Amino acid sequence: MKHGVLLPTMEEPLSTIDSGVTELRPGQKLSLAVEINGLSFSYKERRALDDLSFVIERGEIFGLLGPNGSGKTTLFKLLSTLVPLQAGEARILGYDLRADTTALRRRIGVVFQHPSVDRKLTVGENLMHHAHLFGLKGEHLQKRSAAMLRWLGLSERANDLAETLSGGLQRRVQLAQAFLHQPELLILDEPSTGLDPSARREFLHYVSRLRDEEGVTIVLTTHHMEEAERCDRLGILHEGKLVALAPPSELKSRVGGDVVVINATDAEALRQQIQVRMRTQAVLVDGSLRIERPRGHEFLRDVVEAFGERIETVTFGKPTLEDVFVHLTGQRFHAGKEEGQ
Ligand code: ADP
Repeated sequence: MKHGVLLPTMEEPLSTIDSGVTELRPGQKLSLAVEINGLSFSYKERRALDDLSFVIERGEIFGLLGPNGSGKTTLFKLLSTLVPLQAGEARILGYDLRADTTALRRRIGVVFQHPSVDRKLTVGENLMHHAHLFGLKGEHLQKRSAAMLRWLGLSERANDLAETLSGGLQRRVQLAQAFLHQPELLILDEPSTGLDPSARREFLHYVSRLRDEEGVTIVLTTHHMEEAERCDRLGILHEGKLVALAPPSELKSRVGGDVVVINATDAEALRQQIQVRMRTQAVLVDGSLRIERPRGHEFLRDVVEAFGERIETVTFGKPTLEDVFVHLTGQRFHAGKEEGQ
C-alpha cells in the first residue's frame, strides 16, 4: 500500500501559520544544526559516551543507530538539554549547551520514546496543554493547532480522549506537540518503539515531510534498520563510541561486496579450512561463519562444491546495515530482531 495516498495533502504549509514564538535571533543563518566535540558522559563509573565528535547539517535527517546500551538515549538526553554536559563541547543551532539552554529549548522539539500524551485528555487538550508550556496562546495557537491536526490527519479525532487512539495516532499527537512551536530541530528518541511496521512507516513519512516541506532538521535515535535506512546520514554507536558516520548506502558499500553466511556444526574447523583453501577471510560471529566477497555467487558455488556435506545452511545477499554493524564491530546487532523485524 502506498502511504502517500492515505495522507492528507498539506493545504496550507505549516510554516505560513506563525507559531507565535518570538524569534530569538532574527536573521541568523547557520549551516550546522549540531556541533559536538569531544563529548563524553558517565553514570558514576560507567562510561556511556566516549569522546564523540561530529556535526549535523541543517536540513538533514540524521540517525543515531546502535544496539541497546550503546549510548543513544544518553546522547538524546544531552542534545535535548535534559541532562547537563559533563565533558566536551556541544553547540545546537549555534547555542552553547553549557550556557544557552533556556533560549535553545524554544527552538527545538522533542519526541520521547515513551508516549508523553495525557491519555485522559482529548487530543486537542493535549495540544493546548503543551502549547501553554511554550507560551503559545490566542488566535495563533488555535490556527496552528488546527493546521497541525489537519496535516497529521487528526482533525476528526480532536475531541476524542487520547487513550482511544492507536499507538500510531498517539505518536502523531506527540509529533504535533513537538512541532507546535515551530522548532528548527526535532529530536526523537526511538520513535518507532511500540509501533507496528505500517504505523512506523506512516510516522516516518510525516517526519520526512517535515524535513522536505518545512526544512526542519531531524535527529533520531533508532535500533530499527528500516528507520535507519531512511536517514540521510547515520552515526553508528557501539559501546558509547561513534564507530562510523556516513549515508546508509556508503556504509553498505564499505562492506566489500556480498555477504555469505554459513552455519555448520564444526564452524571453527570449517572456518580455518575455508580460509586456507579459498584464500579468503572468514569470521565467526555468534556461531555463524561470515565471508565478505565481491562476487558472492561464485564463492557460494565454490564453497558448496568443496564443503557441501559439512554445511547446514548457507545464505548470501547484498550487505545490510546489520552487516555493516558486524563488519565494524565483529558483533551482531541483536536488537534488530525486535518488534516485528
Ligand atoms: P541505549 O539508549 O543505546 O540503550 P543508554 O544511553 O540508555 O543506551 O545507555 C548507555 C549505557 O549507560 C549503558 O551501559 C547503560 O546501562 C548505562 N546507563 C544508562 N542510564 C543509566 C543510569 N541512569 N545509571 C547508570 N547507568 C546507566
